Amino acid sequence: MGKEKAGSDMTKKCVMALDAGTTSSRCILFDAKGDVICSAQKEFMQIYPKPGWVEHDANTIFDTQLEVAREALAASGLKPSEVAAIGIANQRETTIVWDRATGEPVSNAIVWQCRRTAEYCDELKARGLTEPIKKKTGLVIDAYFSATKLRWILENIPGVRERAERAELCFGTVETWLIYKLTGGRVHASDYSNASRTMLFNINTLDWDDEILKEMSIPRSMLPEVRPSSGSFGETLPEFFGESIPIMGAAGDQQAALFGQGCFEKGDAKTTYGTGCFILMNTGEKPVFSEHGMLTTIAWGVDGRISYALEGSIFMGGALVQWLRDELKIISTAPESESLALSVSDTNGCYVVPAFTGLGAPYWNPYARGMIVGLTRGCSSAHIVRASLDAICYQVLDALSAMEKDAGIPLSGLRVDGGASDNNYLMQTQSDLLGTDVLRPACVETTALGAASLAGLACGFYEGHAKQNIAARFTPRIGEIERAERLNGWRRAVRCAVAWTES
Ligand code: ADP
Repeated sequence: MGKEKAGSDMTKKCVMALDAGTTSSRCILFDAKGDVICSAQKEFMQIYPKPGWVEHDANTIFDTQLEVAREALAASGLKPSEVAAIGIANQRETTIVWDRATGEPVSNAIVWQCRRTAEYCDELKARGLTEPIKKKTGLVIDAYFSATKLRWILENIPGVRERAERAELCFGTVETWLIYKLTGGRVHASDYSNASRTMLFNINTLDWDDEILKEMSIPRSMLPEVRPSSGSFGETLPEFFGESIPIMGAAGDQQAALFGQGCFEKGDAKTTYGTGCFILMNTGEKPVFSEHGMLTTIAWGVDGRISYALEGSIFMGGALVQWLRDELKIISTAPESESLALSVSDTNGCYVVPAFTGLGAPYWNPYARGMIVGLTRGCSSAHIVRASLDAICYQVLDALSAMEKDAGIPLSGLRVDGGASDNNYLMQTQSDLLGTDVLRPACVETTALGAASLAGLACGFYEGHAKQNIAARFTPRIGEIERAERLNGWRRAVRCAVAWTES
């Protein structure tokens, strides 16, 4: 972690990170060394109006966020004047539209997971927009991103289009909404990393793209100003904490984690092993457009420079461990997967291909289905558990290899976080298969730390970039020949899962 800056304001004791997640609002206070002082968290309601639809109440997002911020501050015993700044990390792409004058949302927030605009996305693809949108935004056309969600609100909520045409409405993702509310409506701004997830932002020109806005009939007046991720986003109204606190940083959660992991150089990468796995590689100051279906995204804008990243994700990460626990019932807790995997010396030739919802990068086959291959009479539940953990590693390896090829940059070690990164067998296997070191930091709150670092850098509370303390380093223990053999087995297993779809 960066040292406290010489000559900085010694009355400041912490940075407040607001981690506005998909299922909960959290607040963590970090001290000058980057250590956690205290935290608070509150879950909020997920709203599922129809199959495949997911919404949040935007006012609840703000209310819970404010509540946990006050709670953490009270628990720390610090005064609001001792908070140097606020940094925000947020669930990305989730779309909110509200009245510029009253701050009242026109509908529930449409959450990133919501699939309601999938058909419209198919239309856009059929109209040949895949390539132009990829070149402009770095993204593949998908319901995941904000653009089609915003259009849905304009088309479907009565009166909204007219109000938007009269410039009475604001659009924002969650950080923009929180900044607007915290500043009492004075600031309507996003940061580069969040803007790059809307599918409306041109990542080459660093501006909202007029052609896409026209195509989707989105009035420019609704859109926030886009600012650097580390820099001023205004001040909170004094009534919220008793005194105003400057908001000095904002980034999407995955990009904040990349920053919090200290991945500042080209080739630095991190994987978050949660329910799914999120993999980001810093590719430096120019966007790299993927040949393998990876997304190109803005990592952050800091110190007048934009850093780009390649991003890939895997649906079945920790979810595969949940499946072993809840459906197969061959483990009773997620951590038990580690001891069971270690109770055998290999997978007995068996491979698990977790293509439960198809195969992602670099295979991109939505029709493939899950498979266990290579079973023999001696294959036990321990072998299947071990092969399942290996499968998580193979998928991460596939994504990282694709990124290395796209970027022409070799991977320089992998940093890890997320619930399943606790599993030492999983991390050792990841290192073995990648043939590179896997580094697990002491502070696993990398998303919040990233937000705190962005804010702390901008206000001078931190000097230089955060450097993570590494708590565990896993180095490869197998040679090239064994690695090649195991990878070959995985590729054959994947081919089986694809062949299953073919007749
Ligand atoms: P999310 O943020 O997606 O909810 P978390 O980062 O909290 O996920 O991680 C939870 C996931 O990690 C679950 O899918 C769980 O099965 C898995 N997990 C947690 N601990 C372990 C472990 N020791 N070994 C393997 N998987 C684990």
